[in-house]
Amino acid sequence: MSDTPVDYHQMWADLGLDLPMHDALLEAVGGMYGATFMSQANRPEGMGYLDFVMSEVHGLRIKELDDFRKSGGKVVGTYCLYVPEELIRAAGGWSVGICAGAEWAYDQVEQILPRNTCALIKSMMGFKLGKVCPYLEEADLLVGETTCDGKKKAYEELGKMQNLYTMELPQMKRPKDVAFWRSELVDFIAKLEELTGKKVTAEALKASIKEVNDKRRALQRVNAARAADPSPISGLDALLAVQVAFYDDVPRFTQMMNALADELEKRAAAGIGVAPKGAPRILITGTPMALPNWKLHEIVEKAGGVVVGEEMCTGSRYYEKLVDEDASTLDEMLDDLAEKYLDINCACFTPNTGRIDDIIRMAGDLKVDGVIDYALSFCGTYQIESAGVAKTVQDAGVPVLRIETDYSAEDVGQLSTRVEAFLEMVK
Ligand code: SF4
Ligand code: SF4
Repeated sequence: MSDTPVDYHQMWADLGLDLPMHDALLEAVGGMYGATFMSQANRPEGMGYLDFVMSEVHGLRIKELDDFRKSGGKVVGTYCLYVPEELIRAAGGWSVGICAGAEWAYDQVEQILPRNTCALIKSMMGFKLGKVCPYLEEADLLVGETTCDGKKKAYEELGKMQNLYTMELPQMKRPKDVAFWRSELVDFIAKLEELTGKKVTAEALKASIKEVNDKRRALQRVNAARAADPSPISGLDALLAVQVAFYDDVPRFTQMMNALADELEKRAAAGIGVAPKGAPRILITGTPMALPNWKLHEIVEKAGGVVVGEEMCTGSRYYEKLVDEDASTLDEMLDDLAEKYLDINCACFTPNTGRIDDIIRMAGDLKVDGVIDYALSFCGTYQIESAGVAKTVQDAGVPVLRIETDYSAEDVGQLSTRVEAFLEMVK
């Protein structure tokens, strides 16, 4: 880590970014990061790594991707948990999760997509149309998936602007669906091999399964520490760790998260926390929060609560389940991958009762005082599940607050009032 600031403008210009707009984005996100994260009291020292990663989010990491591609490597951009990073790495590629967590270029987006599209999809298109995302421009291939209808159709539009491959995801989890999904993994391997020019061997896949499992294990440790009261890490910082997991270098990130987990375990044992013991403990469930969407966590923690878990794709759904590591043939590994990935409980599936079971289990394990069910406006799948989630959780004796919002700051005042009243009530 050098102290001399590096000017990356030439690299960004070479990627075709709109430099004035990109400078404006960096300034806005940098300001937001400082105000949201650096003002937190008593943060773990290990968060210094994530602060550094965020300070270089469009700099050093993009340079690493750039150098990798210049040496013949291929970068694959993904938008959903169902796209297996293990396969991308086994084919010699690098996987990056593309962010879609801020409002950008909506005027251009709304010329293509209806206004009443969820913020995540609008953001995904806005970063492309506004030419402000270097990760998108570094991606040799984007991978979409047939999850919700909005995403599925938006990928058709995105595919007109960039090399994009879509995986067909079944919407049920019967044995025949697992078999179909496995066949999609086989086709995806062929696509990756064509892209990278490298064969996916059993040896390479075994190594990448272990490597990605190690990353998930490190995140499991970080998140397990949040069961302590007081929690040794804020919800904002824990959320950031999962958001960064999608694009950072895998072995380095794993090492740094294990170091953070060591520190958190010591803090928990010593009773050191980020909020006073007894502060209202909140579990958030619902639609994923892509970078830089920190809105709800910030509202809860500024109001005196502490978020101790996220049942979402930027949370437990990402790190909880591991791929079996015992297989030795490619066929067996594909069985294991198909099974593990189809076990993610996304609202695009029917039925999706596993998600409610997960929420109830996490609420108990993390000793939460309340659950906030979070849905983005126009996200039909999570909005429809919301009533059933609320009823089951309330029947289990845990209070629930249902929130529907988007990425704008317009409703922050109103949401803060509702969250403050909820925290008051649960205590
Ligand atoms: S909520 Fe569903 S569609 Fe969205 S990232 Fe998660 S698994 Fe994919
Ligand atoms: S938030 Fe909902 S509507 Fe938006 S992409 Fe995800 S599943 Fe689809």
